[in-house]
Amino acid sequence: MHPNQTVQRRRRLAKGQMPFAVVFSCIDSRVPPEIVFDRGLGDLFATRTGAQTADAVALGSVEFGPDETGTPLIFVLGHEACGAVTAAIESIRTNTPAPGHVQAVVDALRPAYDIAVGQSGDMVDNMVRAQTKLTVAQRKNEPGLAEKIKAGRLMIVGGRYSLTTGRVELIA
Ligand SMILES: [Zn+2]
Repeated sequence: MHPNQTVQRRRRLAKGQMPFAVVFSCIDSRVPPEIVFDRGLGDLFATRTGAQTADAVALGSVEFGPDETGTPLIFVLGHEACGAVTAAIESIRTNTPAPGHVQAVVDALRPAYDIAVGQSGDMVDNMVRAQTKLTVAQRKNEPGLAEKIKAGRLMIVGGRYSLTTGRVELIA
């Protein structure tokens, strides 16, 4: 429906924003959160890294919405056929370091790899799901965020986007 994409909306938002959700998702060109969730200007805070891996800067960016404007939802979004996950599996399996700073993404995916490698089925998809669930669990344990959840002011959930169907399935 392409909501909130008019010139009037843009002008109104110049005075301030109050997005209703934070989306923490992958850099993948096929998964822009505003298009996946059919939203427009001022609707979402979006933090995007390879396979929604987190370092301190990314986490600070995710927490910005709940801390500064009271954003009531953090949605961690993994997706089908994640290239970052696929590259990490290749790097770990062959014990070949990824080029440059890509290695930092591989390192951050190691815990999800360790979970997925023991599961049956599709390794990439298992690892996408593991990474999403781990990220949700870790965010829920962040003291500042845990306090907001307890007070009923924040929800943190995780989903998997299907490139094939365009649907997001809640998985955490
Ligand atoms: Zn991806």
